[in-house]
Amino acid sequence: MKRPAIFLDRDGTLIEEVNFLSRVEDLRLFPFTAEAVKLLKDSGYLVIVVTNQSGIGREIYTVDDMHAIHAQIQVELDNAIDAFYFCPHLPDDGCKCRKPGLGMIESALADFDIDLEGSWMVGDKKIDVETGLVGNISTALVLTGYGAEHQATLETFPTLISTNLHDAVKSIIDSTPKARPSRFV
Ligand SMILES: [Mg+2]
Repeated sequence: MKRPAIFLDRDGTLIEEVNFLSRVEDLRLFPFTAEAVKLLKDSGYLVIVVTNQSGIGREIYTVDDMHAIHAQIQVELDNAIDAFYFCPHLPDDGCKCRKPGLGMIESALADFDIDLEGSWMVGDKKIDVETGLVGNISTALVLTGYGAEHQATLETFPTLISTNLHDAVKSIIDSTPKARPSRFV
């Protein structure tokens, strides 16, 4: 059975923004993260992280460093994240996976039976909003991380703007699923 997914940005959305986070000891979940993710899981959503990690391409940290951080996130969230997809490339590498490209979402669509009409992209940057718009799914901008800064210069607008992930999740769960055209159908 198809399930809606929440495509979640990582840095500044699920966890505190740390410039090029490379060490597990610098990982900080927001105080509301565990509750927000639990609400999503209890409501039947797949929770899928899609994260640009150009620090790998910049050789600031390795894929293994990043996997160690993801493993610790799973420990702190009781394995609630269904999958992590990452883009290791630099902004000018011309890859298809770096947001606002859809490569990571397309990978998730290949791996899971996803109801895109009920799915959302949630993140703190303009590129997260653009990713949702390019994929024609609902979008939420959170004001944690770079969110407040990016809100001031938005050129394309999300479905909703929320104080943080927890508020976004409450709004998403309360919203009636809308029939939206999707480039994936
Ligand atoms: Mg972010």
